[in-house]
Amino acid sequence: MSIIDCHIHLNIYDKINKTEEKIPSLQERLDALLETMENNNISYSLLLSSYKVDVNRPSTAQVIDIVDKNNSKDKLGVVAGFTIDNHTQEDLKNYRQWLKDDIIKGIKLYCGYEHHYPYDERYQIIYDMCIEFGCPLMIHTGDAFSHRAKIKYSHPLNVDDVAVDNPELKIVMCHIGNPWITDCQEILYKNKNVYADISGLIVGDFTLSGEIHYANKIKEILNYVDSPHHLLYGSDWPISNMKSYTNFVQKLDLDKESFDLLMFKNAKNIFKIFL
Ligand SMILES: [Zn+2]
Repeated sequence: MSIIDCHIHLNIYDKINKTEEKIPSLQERLDALLETMENNNISYSLLLSSYKVDVNRPSTAQVIDIVDKNNSKDKLGVVAGFTIDNHTQEDLKNYRQWLKDDIIKGIKLYCGYEHHYPYDERYQIIYDMCIEFGCPLMIHTGDAFSHRAKIKYSHPLNVDDVAVDNPELKIVMCHIGNPWITDCQEILYKNKNVYADISGLIVGDFTLSGEIHYANKIKEILNYVDSPHHLLYGSDWPISNMKSYTNFVQKLDLDKESFDLLMFKNAKNIFKIFL
């Protein structure tokens, strides 16, 4: 069985990497990812670049470049993080070209980390670009991994406005809006153009009670939405442990069709991944 993990980062996070003596190079991070994928039977991952670039966060161009250098395009795709506060005209030009050439598979907004609602009209240029190239837009929703984030901007209900005003735009809400999972569920039910990934529900490993809690939530979404076509598998590695995540989804006890849709078919279809 092939598994697609639609939510992976090559970033370094102080909270989880603080014991590292030196910052691993981008190549070392990529090697660690490929090894972890191999060990967990993951056939393909989408690498999400950040809204900012620093020593811990490679730029989209750097992520594209390292995938290219390692001849890993059959295993890795890139989703370009977008910054509304600090982008340049050149960034917009590059994004357009990368979409045209199928070098990136989607664009991601970091609402909450950046203090703007997803329905801010300045994002419309990105929505139009995604619609033009039929590429999905990922939006961070729910809790944030930074105390500087303002979470009113990442509440899943904000996504409804974007979905309604852009019916042709395919939207993936990251992290099923956790902890506002019921709100995410309603947005999925109401809007045919909205999907959600189940990544980043925990930092590190699931506890037993965490597994039970989130398994019930995911089953509730599937019952309410009445379609397994809306959920995508993602881990948020390296924030979440990949092994713990693949173990967790086994415990959802889904029928084969729902499981296959969650684990690879939906991502394949939405992100146009050819395996
Ligand atoms: Zn993430």
